[in-house]
Amino acid sequence: MKPREYPKRLCVACMQMKDKRELFRVVKTKDGTVNIDPTHKAAGRGAYICKSHECIKLAAKKKALSHALKGEIPSEIYMQLESEINN
Ligand SMILES: [Zn+2]
Repeated sequence: MKPREYPKRLCVACMQMKDKRELFRVVKTKDGTVNIDPTHKAAGRGAYICKSHECIKLAAKKKALSHALKGEIPSEIYMQLESEINN
């Protein structure tokens, strides 16, 4: 029997494949709103990022989420991600 494998996703900042549970999902909905998606199930274009300060800083610097989601990411999203880690 194979051990249960969790799906892996690519972090847009460090470009490493990570276990989904170690990643935030940021989603851009059809109307263009960008949200953090704690359920990993919201409809729309999604991008993943590690639950780490390094990756969030790196993503902000590289505008990695903007590239992945093809649109501007409000700075509040990065602040929200940072505060999620601190919780
Ligand atoms: Zn990362």
